[in-house]
Amino acid sequence: MSGNRVVVVGGGYAGIVVARELDDVADVTLVEPRSEFVHATAALRGAVDVAWEPNVFLPYDQLLKNGRVVHDRARRITPRSVHLTSTDVLEADHVVIATGTSYPFPAKFIESEGWVARARLGRLREALAMSSHALLVGAGPVGLELAGELHHAYPDMKITIVEQAERILPSPELMEPLRESLRTQLEDAGVRFVLGARLGYLPPVDVGIHQPFVVETTTGEKIEADIWFRAYGNRAESDALDGTLAAVRRGDGSIRVDGHLRVAGHGTVWAVGDVADVKESKRAQHAIAHARVVAENLRSVLAGGEPTVLYRPEPEIVVIPLGPEGGASQVMKRDGSRTVLDAHETSRIKGQDLMVGPLKELLGLE
Ligand SMILES: Cc1cc2nc3c(=O)[nH]c(=O)nc-3n(C[C@H](O)[C@H](O)[C@H](O)COP(=O)(O)OP(=O)(O)OC[C@H]3O[C@@H](n4cnc5c(N)ncnc54)[C@H](O)[C@@H]3O)c2cc1C
Repeated sequence: MSGNRVVVVGGGYAGIVVARELDDVADVTLVEPRSEFVHATAALRGAVDVAWEPNVFLPYDQLLKNGRVVHDRARRITPRSVHLTSTDVLEADHVVIATGTSYPFPAKFIESEGWVARARLGRLREALAMSSHALLVGAGPVGLELAGELHHAYPDMKITIVEQAERILPSPELMEPLRESLRTQLEDAGVRFVLGARLGYLPPVDVGIHQPFVVETTTGEKIEADIWFRAYGNRAESDALDGTLAAVRRGDGSIRVDGHLRVAGHGTVWAVGDVADVKESKRAQHAIAHARVVAENLRSVLAGGEPTVLYRPEPEIVVIPLGPEGGASQVMKRDGSRTVLDAHETSRIKGQDLMVGPLKELLGLE
């Protein structure tokens, strides 16, 4: 269908929504190296509980009725083409960049084949079963959530979290009662915080491997542990941008977009999700909202019109489970003010199912 070829690069939360919403009006190709969708929201529970693995890795085969998913990696993206590692070239009338961010294991995976990623999770669980003291570096949402999952699965494991800021969840958007609730719950579970300190050097072993080690913080505290995790280091995935497109990248790798989420200065290129330079936290909910905006704009453009919808960042909402029953959340009330929800409410909203049901709908599985 000439003029209607849309290549979506990256099949994370943003990419699957754009691809599916355009499937009935465009000739859609989704490029994604992973054999299965990886549901990052459930990954930390999958790391400690094998029964959760089917909720972490989900199939793409029901996503598109007309278009196709090509399991390959884009190595070069231009405004009118996507060059794959297989050396195939996909010509495009529009390119949607949805390549997201990478994050250290076990929150996200570098492995493309689902069975390889599962095997790595299996080795991690074996290592955890042998470990008695976990060191977590970073007290952002991922570090806290991981501590909650570890404690729930291994109640006798000692857990220490080192954070360079003076407080947990350093983001200024977050409310103090949220921090207090999470910190109290974790400390009551025996988790120890070392705040206002960095590690002088990283442990001499890869993350998620069982091996006793000693590290020292810059404040001189020695920590002995036998497994560790890196809970920091979101990195935008945009190395494949070619020529003039590469010029729209910011120093952190994110891609500059206008209010319609079109790549600055390029009429045929759009960017959505974590990789787009939108001033808000990197969240799947935001990525999905970007995708809906771009799908609607592209519908209009493909029909010969102009983009119609502007993206407006929403107020900061954060839901942090600590295992299936603990956690705390910061949400909006109807009157527009912010409030903090307790463990019970957090468990009800997310802790029990980790958004697996809504994701299955997006993938066409329910
Ligand atoms: C542990 C954890 C828990 C989280 N929990 C929540 C939560 O509860 N709620 C929430 O809203 N957010 C949550 N997030 C954040 C959320 O995961 C991200 O915001 C979300 O993944 C962003 O979606 P995306 O589609 O932009 O990118 P991603 O999900 O990162 O997907 C990008 C895709 O692009 C592919 N890709 C990359 N490079 C290329 C290339 N060159 N060619 C082709 N494909 C490529 C990747 O393989 C990947 O599949 C969590 C994150 C983590 C790590």
